Amino acid sequence: MEAFQWQQARSPEEAATLVTQTTAEAMLTLQGTPSAQQAVLVKAGGVDMLDLMKEGLVNPRCLMDISQLTELQGISHRDDGSLRIGAQTTLAQIATHPRLRQSHAALAQAAAMAASPQIRNRATLGGNLLQRPRCWYLRSTAHHCLRKGGGHCFAFAGDNRYHAVFANHGCAIVHPSTPATALLAFHAQVELFQPQGQRRMLPLEDFFVLPEADMHRENILAAGEILTAVWLPPQMQTNRSIYLQVAEREAFDWPLAAVAVVLDIDAADLCRQASIVLGAAAPAPWRVRQAEALLTGAEISGEMAEAAGAAALAGATSLTQNAYKLPLLATLVRRAVLVGAATLSQDRF
Ligand SMILES: Cc1cc2nc3c(=O)[nH]c(=O)nc-3n(C[C@H](O)[C@H](O)[C@H](O)COP(=O)(O)OP(=O)(O)OC[C@H]3O[C@@H](n4cnc5c(N)ncnc54)[C@H](O)[C@@H]3O)c2cc1C
Ligand code: SF4
Repeated sequence: MEAFQWQQARSPEEAATLVTQTTAEAMLTLQGTPSAQQAVLVKAGGVDMLDLMKEGLVNPRCLMDISQLTELQGISHRDDGSLRIGAQTTLAQIATHPRLRQSHAALAQAAAMAASPQIRNRATLGGNLLQRPRCWYLRSTAHHCLRKGGGHCFAFAGDNRYHAVFANHGCAIVHPSTPATALLAFHAQVELFQPQGQRRMLPLEDFFVLPEADMHRENILAAGEILTAVWLPPQMQTNRSIYLQVAEREAFDWPLAAVAVVLDIDAADLCRQASIVLGAAAPAPWRVRQAEALLTGAEISGEMAEAAGAAALAGATSLTQNAYKLPLLATLVRRAVLVGAATLSQDRF
């Protein structure tokens, strides 16, 4: 790792003014010259940033540490039932927050399943959403792939067992954030602080970028923008949610396939609304609208859950080594729908 300077940010304004690039920009290597040498980059928990620096994938002049900014800390409920999660809140805090575990169970479950206990104590929600993908070619200095400004994707003819089965033309990364799958199912919004001092809010769904729109980044964060918080809209009393995943190991690993389901089921056991998002399946958390539409207005049964699992695969295009993900995803959707609906019945009777 190269020597670098360290600066403790005293306010979001200071961080936004002094940060010069996003990490995605800093990893873009044009004509073999890393553009990151002079960059001032944001560091939160440092789990991914330090990895990238140790691998020689970024070489910043200075790290702007935002971990002491109080405005970015903690979880607060608002009078209208909405929830603000500061970007510096750790995954462990999200996983163990008593009220959040009740109101947004799928998010607490997703946070609890990410990485390992040590990492969850350090990793922040903001850094988790903004971590770079795990594609091994992206993370190898020996492979100058499309996402780093090169001319070739090594995954298509190479080892693509962990890659995307949706929207995988051009670049086939899967989005690495486990909590993002659940956040999207809850229709979360992100709050961004801009270098000019304004704040902007936008749906998390619009924050992410697919390769067909921009090959070089996973989100629309601009240089100098600081992610300050994630907002969750109020939940109906009748909402139930669940997050399920399959991984090669129970801990210390990313999922092979995942799903977050939020169901609103009325007193007559009809599904008023369903929100279903796949994880580890696409370059962004992947909402499966056909499966959602199928459940809306229906009574949840084994057949309906099975049909939702099959509908969730609409448009999937597996690569040479990752077709195994399709039955995993369909099964996870079926189970999550059934367990989500059963949780409601158990609570009620
Ligand atoms: C062995 C292992 C297993 C893992 N398994 C999982 C898993 O199963 N699921 C999962 O989701 N993750 C997993 N992770 C990844 C880990 O959760 C992330 O690296 C971590 O959450 C990053 O958070 P951080 O606070 O350390 O971010 P940092 O490393 O400090 O920052 C990450 C990126 O975000 C930017 N950034 C951070 N905060 C802000 C902000 N507020 N505004 C603007 N930019 C910002 C930084 O510039 C940097 O580019 C795993 C990691 C390891 C090492
Ligand atoms: S999948 Fe994307 S990140 Fe991986 S090698 Fe291909 S272009 Fe690069």
